[in-house]
Amino acid sequence: MNKTVYVLGAGFSRDAGCPTVSEFISKNSISRIKKTLNSDEKRKLESLQSYWNYRIQEGYCESNIESIFNHVSAAKYLFMESMTESDAGNYDAEKIYNDLQWYILKTLKESTKKKIPKEYQKFVKEMLQPEDVIISFNYDLILEKVLLDLKIQIDYGISDPQKNDRLILKLHGSANWVYCNNCGHSYPTEDYSGLEALSEKIKCHYCKKSTLKPILIPPTLYKDYQDQKLGGMIQELWARANEELYNADKIIFIGFSMAQTDAYAQELFKLSSNMNPELETYFVVNNSVSSKLKNNYRNALVNRQIKFVNLSTVDFIKQCKQFKCR
Ligand SMILES: [Zn+2]
Repeated sequence: MNKTVYVLGAGFSRDAGCPTVSEFISKNSISRIKKTLNSDEKRKLESLQSYWNYRIQEGYCESNIESIFNHVSAAKYLFMESMTESDAGNYDAEKIYNDLQWYILKTLKESTKKKIPKEYQKFVKEMLQPEDVIISFNYDLILEKVLLDLKIQIDYGISDPQKNDRLILKLHGSANWVYCNNCGHSYPTEDYSGLEALSEKIKCHYCKKSTLKPILIPPTLYKDYQDQKLGGMIQELWARANEELYNADKIIFIGFSMAQTDAYAQELFKLSSNMNPELETYFVVNNSVSSKLKNNYRNALVNRQIKFVNLSTVDFIKQCKQFKCR
């Protein structure tokens, strides 16, 4: 058996319309989303915008969604957000945290192209074999849509798999996963149910209460997820990812930046590459291979051979035979 593990980052979904980490809060992205909002939602977005603009300007976080999400989740955990000197009492960390999750989900939902480029189907049909594994750091549902159209079921690694399911380990959660604050169950549902959970439009399958929350995990692995029942599930997913990586015959990263802000991901690849000495070459596909990207990978995949491929997702899939991906 020849097992390929595909590791997907935001860049994988870019050709299907989803913004990357830095594009998320760009003027273009915000004005596009604004057109889909009602007046209450517009006010919510404006207050979020003024929050993150101030934070970026003051140097609390970098100008990208990952850094802002890390900052807000840490603030929520530490309960310090409303106590910072200059803006004491102006911000409620819990509210900002929820609003930011709403913005992330709404943006992904609204920016996904109605017609996903056909190459994504080609990826599933011609590259992704049943024995392969996907490790995804994305919340979006691009692959889910493509698999659904092809009538292929998904095994998220959190319930008993059926034969021919494709294994997708979403290490930062997913737009269609929810957990219940009341009974502690966590489970995948349909479409962008995380958004409905935030507005309390859906009830828990188990206890029938409107106490569902989205499962969107910031790169810092916000402490809540380690303490509660949900933490067990996330930890299992990461352990499974580690196991799949050290049993892999080939590892291909697509649109994943291996950023320093995601220390847990870096450590995951450090550990697993150490445990898989037979795997010689790692493929890194990215539409802008920079020296920063190269450094990020060299820090994580210590002493490994890395082949950088400067292509967008769609172009890579078009040319996959040339790279002997299978
Ligand atoms: Zn419940």
